[in-house]
Amino acid sequence: MTDSRYIRQALLPGIGNEGQERLGVSHAVVVGVGALGCVSADLLVRAGVGRVTLIDRDVVEVSNLQRQTLFAEADVGRPKAVAAAARLRAVNSGVTINAVVADVTGRNVHGMLNALCETGLPPPGPLPRGGGVVIDGTDNFETRYLLNDWCVKHGVPFLYAGAVGTRGMVAAFVPGGPCLRCVFEDPPEPGSQPTCETAGVLGPAVVMAGAMQAAEAIKLLSGNAGAVSRDLATFDVWENTWRRVALPVRRTDCPCCGLGRFEFLEGASGDEAVLCGREAVQVTPRAAAQVDLASLARRLAPHGAVSASEHLVRAAIEGVEMTVFADGRAIVKGTTRPEVARSAYAKWVGV
Ligand SMILES: [Zn+2]
Repeated sequence: MTDSRYIRQALLPGIGNEGQERLGVSHAVVVGVGALGCVSADLLVRAGVGRVTLIDRDVVEVSNLQRQTLFAEADVGRPKAVAAAARLRAVNSGVTINAVVADVTGRNVHGMLNALCETGLPPPGPLPRGGGVVIDGTDNFETRYLLNDWCVKHGVPFLYAGAVGTRGMVAAFVPGGPCLRCVFEDPPEPGSQPTCETAGVLGPAVVMAGAMQAAEAIKLLSGNAGAVSRDLATFDVWENTWRRVALPVRRTDCPCCGLGRFEFLEGASGDEAVLCGREAVQVTPRAAAQVDLASLARRLAPHGAVSASEHLVRAAIEGVEMTVFADGRAIVKGTTRPEVARSAYAKWVGV
């Protein structure tokens, strides 16, 4: 008998008491508790997913409150994972919620996600068993590709989403189907894409992407894998456009799911080095990059004091001074904490 809390959801023919029971023994790991992660974690906890793990490296800032729906003014300065977990425990005390304050890297990803290996996809059939999914709430491609590698290697669904400006994009990558690298083989060059910090972001655009992501997770975890979208959905809530493009078939020459090379998981990941005596951290991208310095300088100019030469862009923004070189390397002054430097790099340069 379904708990009265979930009675409206269990009424849905695709879910029923059995689907609700499956949700209750499932596990969702939300990597990144920004606007996307807030929405998907909130919906999954309310839907009764039995265990939700929240991983985030940042603290809540006042500029997050416009769209990050789990946070209030009193949370400013608290780690996002901790503040979101406190809110979600108050929403649904029946869900086990873990908060992890960390930057996910190739070195620690397995330790953080290995609990999902015990679950995997829920099998069809009468015996409910839990499933596991990874929800992409990240703000950078480096972590997305790392998560894609891990999910393909371990046969766990990866629910990708992104939003910037008034646009959003969502795709569900499920074992057996194509993966993120079948669609976008390599991450974009550092500094080539707009970020929420440089281009802005409208709350409803990112909330819509997070809601679609949560819907795919609920389908998978309730035993309805057949209902999962096989499209890459893109939309613009300002231009009123909506597109669905069929995901390609799984590519046999895909470096990740086709050839089994987990390049983001196995080394060659970006690195940070604390520069002694300088209160600065050097951030190095994973692969050699070619940054368009002039266009990066134009995008950063409205947000701080920016100067540029043919060799570098220097920008003083929000308490740190970043010097970005044409090869994608950056020196972030004003901190000795690698995670703060990597976060500033992801937000302002964009990987
Ligand atoms: Zn692939």
